[in-house]
Amino acid sequence: MNKQASFFESVSRNFDNAAVLTKYPKGLLSQIKAANAVYQMRFPVKIGNKYEVIEAFRVQHSHHRLPTKGGIRYSHYVDQQEVEALAALMTYKCALVDVPFGGAKGGVKISTRNYTPEQLERITRRYTVELVRKNFIGPGIDVPAPDYGTGPREMAWILDTYQQLKNGEIDSAACVTGKPTNTSGIQGRTEATGRGVFYGLREYLTLKDEVEALGMQTGTGGKTMVIQGLGNVGRYTGTISIEEGDIKVIGVSEIEGTIVDEKGINIAKLLKYRASKGSILGFPGTKTLKSREDWVSIPCDILVPAALESQIHKGNAKKIKAKIICEAANGPVTADAEEILLKMGVVVLPDMYLNAGGVTVSYFEWLKNLSHIRFGRMEKRFDQNAYTNMVDMVVRLTGKTISTRERSLLTKGADEVDLVRSGLEETMITSFHQIRANYTRKKSVKDYRTAAFITALDKVASDYLTLGVFP
Ligand code: GLU
Repeated sequence: MNKQASFFESVSRNFDNAAVLTKYPKGLLSQIKAANAVYQMRFPVKIGNKYEVIEAFRVQHSHHRLPTKGGIRYSHYVDQQEVEALAALMTYKCALVDVPFGGAKGGVKISTRNYTPEQLERITRRYTVELVRKNFIGPGIDVPAPDYGTGPREMAWILDTYQQLKNGEIDSAACVTGKPTNTSGIQGRTEATGRGVFYGLREYLTLKDEVEALGMQTGTGGKTMVIQGLGNVGRYTGTISIEEGDIKVIGVSEIEGTIVDEKGINIAKLLKYRASKGSILGFPGTKTLKSREDWVSIPCDILVPAALESQIHKGNAKKIKAKIICEAANGPVTADAEEILLKMGVVVLPDMYLNAGGVTVSYFEWLKNLSHIRFGRMEKRFDQNAYTNMVDMVVRLTGKTISTRERSLLTKGADEVDLVRSGLEETMITSFHQIRANYTRKKSVKDYRTAAFITALDKVASDYLTLGVFP
């Protein structure tokens, strides 16, 4: 089975399944579905004492809103179809969470572990130069961000290269998001996707009827979770679910294998262990499963694929014993697998909603860069003083006292990170209920992915119709 083709086909099939349930004309639906611009490039980079030709892409899936937005992936599996599918998901994702961008995605076909940091820097800078030359990057054009294989370090290289070429462009810091916090980034971006996954799951778990129908009680507390992939998304989904949701992570799968511990795995400690040993295997208290692939069949409440696409396919879907699948990665469940899961009664919370926390906080970062001011700078002290006056007044009028901890909780003015978290929480909750409205309103809608697609389609279509392109 060609994994990438199946991912592209899955996105296409999921789109078609939802599109037939809408009232939009065929032409409009075809325009929404098609990738608007694809830039395929090949450039030379000196690696050691010879030149290597690097293949890379940037796909702008939808120009209905500008800039376009989406991460850059460094992976050996990158090909045009994969990047097109990922870019399409970005369009629907942005629409769902009301982030006013079209979707895009970049891909560089390399295995990061074959290169030194200096070589990766050369590749990143050269890729950025190619994007600038073709007008495929800019605060109002197309704004990249991290994805699989990239992070704040790469984003800083992109920004620096862009600024060297665009000297004096006042909004240049907004040409890329996911930057380090000391380089025009924003607090809370790194954890944003994982935090968003947690907020989305937590919201789903408030639905009494649905959760009880799955044989569980509402709320996150005490639920068991298995995570595939401890990259930027999986690690924060795990730590935040444990710390803020009292969830028990009973299984973790990584390249080297899958480990389980029914008593719960401390993800923060596991990450330290892996950093020193180079592997998750042998982590105290855990058992290693015979086959790495067995992560899918661990009995648990919540299964979180947080690695790459097409991880749950028709070959392994039947083995799943989880009640809920949280698509923290993009496209981890193929369309074939989803049909099987639907029959098994497994609920899939879809990627385009559940992992939208990353792009949501990217949007906040972009706004911060354009406004040239940190969130909270103007109002934090004002709020703090006003709350202090209020608390003082209550204390005086009641004659009662409060502890220092209570006082600081009541009088705190919001920092940037508090505002980012609150904006993200609001976004994930609001968006969930918009999707749910489509899920419950239409009998023909059998799953949350179709409901999410319809919600996104309504928004993108309404943009096109407002533009007057389709009278
Ligand atoms: N790569 C992330 C995603 O797939 C983030 C994109 C962004 O922040 O622009 O959603």
